[in-house]
Amino acid sequence: KIFLERASKSTERMTHILEDLDQLTKLELERIPLDIRSFDFLELVKETYESLELIAKEKNFRLTIDASDPYCYVNADRNKLSQVLLSLTSNAIAYGKVSGKLCVSVVEIDNTYNIQFKDDGAGIEPQHLPRLFERFYRVEKSRNRHEGGSGLGLAIVKHIIESHGQQIQVSSTVGIGTTFTFSLQKSKATGPVSSRGIPLK
Ligand code: ATP
Ligand code: MG
Repeated sequence: KIFLERASKSTERMTHILEDLDQLTKLELERIPLDIRSFDFLELVKETYESLELIAKEKNFRLTIDASDPYCYVNADRNKLSQVLLSLTSNAIAYGKVSGKLCVSVVEIDNTYNIQFKDDGAGIEPQHLPRLFERFYRVEKSRNRHEGGSGLGLAIVKHIIESHGQQIQVSSTVGIGTTFTFSLQKSKATGPVSSRGIPLK
């Protein structure tokens, strides 16, 4: 029975890796067109965090949001961005310490929002940083290296941000934490709009 459970677990893991790879390939071939709409980025941050609430609670992990505006409407593909946020947030929790924190900050700079995901985890040694966004790259020895990670998460994140015409950067200090920074185009709309740009509220 234990053998079968293990076998089924590794099948699940393999399926997950294949799905990630399949998605990455499609993104690279640009077979998935972006569905750009206006939506509130902060709402998506909260929604993503709530979807991870169970694992966050286990670690007594906390999220704080620090934004210049009460709503931060961006022009982006909401589903794809949701994957970016899921990846960054679950990494912050998985590689973070017990009672750790993630601070998401959003600052407007000439019609773009500058977004930072800053955690207070163990940090990443500088020699790993240049390769961090490569597919299958994982930092060795991570004491709390979480099971099942394939090293595809950040490769997908980078692709999605770049397909939006933006860039993502990482900076990290061992013992202090890690910060991921990217930007998104600010939307002129101050509320949700339809795919034709017609305001919904
Ligand atoms: P998955 O494909 O399931 O996301 P993964 O989490 O190992 O697997 P990535 O999300 O691409 O892969 O992350 C790559 C590596 O970068 C991780 O294995 C981890 O060592 C390191 N890492 C990522 N985010 C952080 C973070 N916030 N703090 C410390 N290390 C991190
Ligand atoms: Mg990950």
